[in-house]
Amino acid sequence: MKIICIGRNYTEHIEELGNERPDNPVIFMKPDTAILKDNAPFYYPEFSKDIHHEVEVLVKIKKEGKSISPEFAHKYYDEIGLGIDFTARDVQSQLKEKGQPWERAKAFNGSAPISKFISKAGFDLQKTGFELKINGQTVQNGNTSLMLWPINELIAYVSKFFTLKTGDIIFTGTPKGVGPVSIGDELVGFLEGQEMFRFQVK
Ligand code: ZN
Repeated sequence: MKIICIGRNYTEHIEELGNERPDNPVIFMKPDTAILKDNAPFYYPEFSKDIHHEVEVLVKIKKEGKSISPEFAHKYYDEIGLGIDFTARDVQSQLKEKGQPWERAKAFNGSAPISKFISKAGFDLQKTGFELKINGQTVQNGNTSLMLWPINELIAYVSKFFTLKTGDIIFTGTPKGVGPVSIGDELVGFLEGQEMFRFQVK
């Protein structure tokens, strides 16, 4: 399976990082070795001093497809989840400066904690709220209504370049409020108020 991530999909997050608004979604990938599941702890890597959380709504692809049109995209997923796109911001800044790829900052071991997946049936994905709390404090509070490219358009765009296969996961971008995590933190994620994950930084 592969993990496809979308960058710069929420206006206010683009502004907080001082990035340009892209003409198309920014796409990058993580390998399957990035996945952490079942609330496994995240071990702070030694190569960074500035690991940031980015809470994101996840989509799990249920059948193979390429060049999917937006109006049929909903047929390619039944389940959604919540995850963290951990980012070594210090490493990413260095790579951006040199115009180099982001893998060392974004695709390292454990950089993709994911929740269980649940049926999308109970959600209006045009306006689904989600939240990340660290040690009980809300740090990110997003809503899919603020996406520049909604989920179905992301699937259409991504599938022009990459055949989507059963089990692939799409990270749909983070809203504003990204920031650092520290050893000892507890991260808890909610989708429409429902707890989706709870894990520690060690
Ligand atoms: Zn992200």
